[in-house]
Amino acid sequence: MKRPSILIIYTGGTIGMQRDENGTLVPFDFNSIEKEFPAVRHLNVDIDVHKMQPIDSSNVTPRLWTELARTVQSNYEKYDGFVVLHGTDTMSYTASALSFMFENLQKPVVFTGSQIPMGIMRTDGRENLITAIEIAAARKNGYPMVPEVCLYFQNRLFRANRTSKLSAEALNAFDSRNYPPLADVGVNITYNTAFIHHEKGWFEGEFTAEPLRVLDGFDTNVVILKIFPGISETTLKAVLSVEGLRGVVLETFGTGNAPTADWFINLLEQTIARGVTIVNVTQCVGGGVAMELYETGKRLQQAGVLSGHDMTTEAAVTKLMLQLGNCPQKESVVRGMLESKSGEFGS
Ligand code: ASP
Repeated sequence: MKRPSILIIYTGGTIGMQRDENGTLVPFDFNSIEKEFPAVRHLNVDIDVHKMQPIDSSNVTPRLWTELARTVQSNYEKYDGFVVLHGTDTMSYTASALSFMFENLQKPVVFTGSQIPMGIMRTDGRENLITAIEIAAARKNGYPMVPEVCLYFQNRLFRANRTSKLSAEALNAFDSRNYPPLADVGVNITYNTAFIHHEKGWFEGEFTAEPLRVLDGFDTNVVILKIFPGISETTLKAVLSVEGLRGVVLETFGTGNAPTADWFINLLEQTIARGVTIVNVTQCVGGGVAMELYETGKRLQQAGVLSGHDMTTEAAVTKLMLQLGNCPQKESVVRGMLESKSGEFGS
């Protein structure tokens, strides 16, 4: 059987750094990947590298998401899988955005990065990269094991739009508290097939592939508003009256609770009446929103705030921007937000 072919798309971040002769951290030359990591030759995989202008991921904007998705699309027929090397700081945002942009994705798109630069002896980048390639190339009966956008970091593969970066220090920086890992990596890679998105009849070859579609166009007239005890009317009013505002991800307490003071609820109601879509997600790293549980959540529901269920903030804000960018009518934005598009909420 033909060796799987993988395209590595390099966008920047810590994983791409190595020390030059003066000890300064400079971008690594991924074109010489096989020379730097002879181990990849043993993977029995054909590898090509597509280098984008390397950036620190704090500078990522939807422009990069579009460029990335288009790069996958234009190379989709040529490669069996894709590995995206990305800075860890905003990797969950980019990976979530891509999970919503692709329709009919039937090949793996595996994001990874590292906490320690590639050029430092103790780097976690080498293992992350090699395993990500292995996962992107993995097949059963000739069909990809993980035909979805996912994120591999420190021995665990996650559904991308369920992840958040939870540690600036630990090597297992990412987690997915509301959805089990898609694979656990030890001596062997154990795929948790029941949790991976497969079309019916996938491994039996009974599935007819529709062409890949890329949904594009993000409306950035949104805000993430994290509430806190003591939040003032002036602050809330100022944020919600930003000119052109179309969407709000409201980070609330616990199961989706917020103050019940009249001024708070009235401001939300007036904002929704103006046509702004407000989605409620929890500030907690695990669990989700159930607005019917407490009076403090019910008031939000009555005001017209939508439940974000157990979505991460990263998933909620990227999905909202894409919905707003593609739906001029508020009803279709609302419908889209209430539907799990790429397994971003629910079980
Ligand atoms: N600041 C870096 C970035 O996100 C951090 C990293 O890659 O770990 O680009």
